[in-house]
Amino acid sequence: MRLLFIFLDGIGLGENNPETNPFARAKMPNLNRLLEGRSLLKECAPFHGEHASLLGVDPAVGVSGLPQSATGQAILLTGINIPAELGYHYGPKPNPEVAAYLKEATLFSRFVKEGRKAALLNAYPPRYFDGIDSGKRLYSSIPLAVINAGLPLFRHDDLFAGRALSADFTGEGWRTMLGFHEAPLMDAAQAGRKLASLASGYDFSLFEYWASDYAGHKQQMANAISLMETFDGVLDGLTDAWDEGLILVTSDHGNMDDLSTRKHTDADVPALVIGNKTARDEFTRHLTDLTDIAPAIWKTVMG
Ligand SMILES: [Zn+2]
Repeated sequence: MRLLFIFLDGIGLGENNPETNPFARAKMPNLNRLLEGRSLLKECAPFHGEHASLLGVDPAVGVSGLPQSATGQAILLTGINIPAELGYHYGPKPNPEVAAYLKEATLFSRFVKEGRKAALLNAYPPRYFDGIDSGKRLYSSIPLAVINAGLPLFRHDDLFAGRALSADFTGEGWRTMLGFHEAPLMDAAQAGRKLASLASGYDFSLFEYWASDYAGHKQQMANAISLMETFDGVLDGLTDAWDEGLILVTSDHGNMDDLSTRKHTDADVPALVIGNKTARDEFTRHLTDLTDIAPAIWKTVMG
């Protein structure tokens, strides 16, 4: 069965506190509809409804210290308890020890080896590749796993041709921040429908959204609310156009769920699973910590 993995960086299931948690304030009617009145809050999980399931998943995986992005994403891609093997959480970008796990063991490499179609749906701008080529920028765990699997990272021509999606969903950042004034512009619901149509071409596809972790580090309440309200619009178009298979929304660690601190949080991360109830029940049966996600994805896709 097909699976679309939407990775939202730095999203935990926090307290229902409008002072500190944008999820207690953001208007997310489409998420609320999917979760039958619930939201992405600690008090709302676990939940198994008609259209979606929500579980809290432990990203600390038994290792002390706050979970970090490089190891968290590497766990999501491999199912291996890398912090336990190394003795630490690490991030934001992988060091050589973490990078060593991102070769043959990732979902991308393993799906390619099994002849399944897999892709990272983000489009990366020229300055990203310039940064990599000049050595000023390191790959983060997800694109590194994609490269190591022999898959392409999509570029600006893929975005323009409709083969990939902007990291901010709508494409606005390509126009305002990157200077591509002709970049395709979509509203949130259109971006969601685009995501559904892109995902329909693959057995496994992943979309990476990092602005949520950034807003958490910057402690930007208004921005965080606006990002999640846009994401809610994406969910609307996505679920409207979604045909068959599962949609998974999860994260590597908490952050945005408590804006009273600039640091990551120790909150559980959400595993929001949307789609057919039988497949969802199977997917969520053994989800306890972050290492359980990759095996569940593997089983869903391989059938
Ligand atoms: Zn972070």
